[in-house]
Amino acid sequence: MKTVYFDNNATTKVAEEVLEEVKPLFCELYGNPSSMHTFGGQIGRRIRRAREQVAGLLGCETSEIVFTGGGTESDNTAIKGVLAAAPNRRIVITTRVEHPAVLAVCRELENHGYMIVELSVDRQGRLDMAELEEHLDDDTALVTIMYANNETGTVFPIEDIAELVTSKGALFHTDAVQAVGKIPLDLSKSNIDLLSLSGHKLHAPKGVGVLYVRKGTRLSPFMLGGHQEAGRRAGTENVPGIVGMGKACELAAENLEAENSKVKALRDKLERTILQKCPDCRLNGDPDNRLPNTTNISFEYIEGEAILLMLDKYGICASSGSACTSGSLEPSHVLRAMGVPFTAAHGSIRFSLSRYNTEDEVDYTIEKLPPIINQLRELSPFVTK
Ligand code: PLP
Repeated sequence: MKTVYFDNNATTKVAEEVLEEVKPLFCELYGNPSSMHTFGGQIGRRIRRAREQVAGLLGCETSEIVFTGGGTESDNTAIKGVLAAAPNRRIVITTRVEHPAVLAVCRELENHGYMIVELSVDRQGRLDMAELEEHLDDDTALVTIMYANNETGTVFPIEDIAELVTSKGALFHTDAVQAVGKIPLDLSKSNIDLLSLSGHKLHAPKGVGVLYVRKGTRLSPFMLGGHQEAGRRAGTENVPGIVGMGKACELAAENLEAENSKVKALRDKLERTILQKCPDCRLNGDPDNRLPNTTNISFEYIEGEAILLMLDKYGICASSGSACTSGSLEPSHVLRAMGVPFTAAHGSIRFSLSRYNTEDEVDYTIEKLPPIINQLRELSPFVTK
């Protein structure tokens, strides 16, 4: 059975071009970039090249790029590193819809005397700028708000937020793990101070990430040890990961146009047809400001898990907006924050596409899904028959 992979916000396939670039780094060019010998020196050159490729995609300087072990580490480093360098400020502002890599850190900080403000969102997942402005004051150390939501694809007005936050003297970090490579982003024209990204969301290997740190930003290192990454992230570099990340960023820049035309057209066809063919379903997220690859749809009165299992029988991979915790299904914190009714949040499915998806895969899914929904509704105790 073929696999139709519509779960690219969870992780992506490593691009063939990335794999080719990375292969020699395991058994041929395996030196330590910190070594004095020529053999190690060649590896250092590859890391420098990767730094240029990442900086090229982001529109920043190479000295502003810190390679990390992934999106979670970048988020942790940004938040904890800023606070450690500014001990007099005690307020952190974030949103209720962040990824746990941000939310869990913020909630833990509350145990250490920080005041955390979690901004709310409306039914379409949008922020209220007035609420943000109200909470900004001289005691605000950091505002950390995601660029684009991993579950709904909703894109926040990050440049406006960065301008507002920095004009009030606080630092601004954005978790751009889902945005980089999908929508244009230019840090040379931006007020963003820190930005996180993750390799495995943009066709690089897992276990590598980047933290952009704007020149002059005060940040205490999270990992202590050797002097790698100019003292900002200790530990022998994950050379294949870093080189893969560099190549993936170069490819992302080349494919940005396709992402916003071809991938978006496929996503739109999938979404439009599902909404037409399946009764009692609704779109979750901001229809106007959304990642081009993501659609999140709620199917009333049925469990997302049941839909996923039946899709899986046809080799179709997607994900649901509920997580199984201690035997019960908890609707996602994102959909709850948006006020999506319980019955709809339980039956939500996210399809996230990539440049490797085809129209045939979309057509196949459109053919298989409506009968699955009808069948599950027949079995649903919530539907009056
Ligand atoms: N932030 C967002 C928005 C994500 O979607 C993810 C991964 O799902 C992460 C952070 C964590 O990234 P990583 O898996 O590289 O640690």
